[in-house]
Amino acid sequence: MTMHPSAMMAMPLLTSDIIKSAALRYPNQEIVSLLPSNRLHTYTYLAAYKRINQLAYGLESLGFNPGDRIATLANNHYRHFELYYAIGGAGAVIHTLNPRLFREQLEYIINHAEDKYIFVDPCFIPLLEEVQSQIPKVKAFIINCGQDEMPNTKLTPVLCYESLIEGQSQEFNWPELTANHNCGLCYTSGTTGNPKGVIYDHQSSVLHAMMSGSSQFLSFNEWDVVMPAVPMYHVVAWGIPYSAPMFGAKLVFCGDKLDGHSLYRLIDSQQVNKGFGVPTIWLGLHNFLASQACPKDPIPSLKLVGVGGAASPQNLVKTYAEQYDVYWMGLWGMTETSPLISAAINSPYVEKLDPESRYRVQSSAGKAMFGTQIEIFDHEDQPLPHDGVQQGLLKVKGPWVLKQYFKGEGQESFQQGWFDTGDIAVINPDGYLRILDRAKDVIKSGGEWINSTQLEDAALDYECINEACVIGVKHPKWDERPILLVTLKTNKVFSKEELVNILKRKVAKWWLPDAILVVEKLPHTGTGKLTKVGLRHEYQNYLMEQVLIS
Ligand code: ADP
Repeated sequence: MTMHPSAMMAMPLLTSDIIKSAALRYPNQEIVSLLPSNRLHTYTYLAAYKRINQLAYGLESLGFNPGDRIATLANNHYRHFELYYAIGGAGAVIHTLNPRLFREQLEYIINHAEDKYIFVDPCFIPLLEEVQSQIPKVKAFIINCGQDEMPNTKLTPVLCYESLIEGQSQEFNWPELTANHNCGLCYTSGTTGNPKGVIYDHQSSVLHAMMSGSSQFLSFNEWDVVMPAVPMYHVVAWGIPYSAPMFGAKLVFCGDKLDGHSLYRLIDSQQVNKGFGVPTIWLGLHNFLASQACPKDPIPSLKLVGVGGAASPQNLVKTYAEQYDVYWMGLWGMTETSPLISAAINSPYVEKLDPESRYRVQSSAGKAMFGTQIEIFDHEDQPLPHDGVQQGLLKVKGPWVLKQYFKGEGQESFQQGWFDTGDIAVINPDGYLRILDRAKDVIKSGGEWINSTQLEDAALDYECINEACVIGVKHPKWDERPILLVTLKTNKVFSKEELVNILKRKVAKWWLPDAILVVEKLPHTGTGKLTKVGLRHEYQNYLMEQVLIS
């Protein structure tokens, strides 16, 4: 058979086209940002697009080569949104720096990425002042503020964001980039070893936005008021700064204010109907609402929360459904996967389930979206059946899944076209994915696995517990055994016995933790996830010492 060359136009998919189209299709749709002063800044997609054009000229005046990395150290707000589009669209790569990184890590990734400029929020200037002498390749620092707000700083040379764009033309001649031209860079959090860079290209970012914004996933449209309570400095705020404008949703940026009270005020004043964040964000909102003398449903506009980044506690899913009439949609993804891969969307199937089964499905990681593939593998790298029972290492493929880390590091994560996520999961016969643990957090007790997140979820069934964290620590006989650390809700009487009884109903006897410790607080990453590395280190000999003492 004669093979004819493709007769279709080769039009690259570019992120700059998203905002261009939003300005045309939804010129009056709003972007609202909560500023550090607690003032709200509101403008439209059309106004944003004009400023993005001016910013692109500003970047050109600074000077850069295609593919150069230009970094941001910023919270969620309209200027950061403008940087997303202007930097990538102009042919450079936006490298979002995470302000919660340790000083050494920040220094390391700025140098590793060879960042040329850094756009920084005034509140993060001290972080850069500390490392400035160690990051000689950075040519200038641009402060994300107006001329009248320029702070005193030791950074040098230093420029002002608003001065950079002032007087520039509002019609930039966007370069004709190829679809695989890089546009974004984000580093993994590097809990083991140095952080690794994940580079996104224009096509992967646009495809991710098209699918994740579609009805198979976040289902965005012009009626929506979308609040990403996930930082724009980590994993592109789940791609929402691209997907919301693509589908015409109103965007609400919460600045650096992720506490329950601030989120409540924004949801209420902007009538947010879809919010996104890690479980602790929604726990914080619930704790705030529970502490107030609120009407029955204090957040009537909110209809959906998309929750990923960590396992969803089933109890909280239930609370959101029954107290707030909010659909909790479990999501799964990671930095390496742009990040969204699967979601437990509402469907006729889900709606028909009895409440407890429905909450269980909602707390899962859902089904993989079109274009991506998920599979679980055993120790011999053989695929396991999707029977909801056998657990294995989760691997993924897809047009927005990376095939190599920046500068070719971490080769061991890529085999036969799959990316090894490092997560342990089961897949049900109907395609639902459930993450059981991270491979490095699984507790290996006498050669058998105990899943820390399942134990945590069981513990959260006890109403006294605010947060639960299970870690594996050294044990003289079993190698490792689980211990459970909990923080408590105020005004509740806690009993260890009652907790153990609850656990016994939910997990096998040999899974029961060897110790239950009540602590004041548990450590979180910048994105609000529980982080276990420090705890594992701190408590590694806890049981050994107990055995010695007894
Ligand atoms: P880090 O947490 O190291 O900053 P990522 O933001 O890339 O990095 O997080 C990805 C990880 O978060 C996944 O590998 C997985 O372990 C965890 N995760 C994400 N979504 C879920 C979910 N729905 N259930 C359980 N764990 C999840």
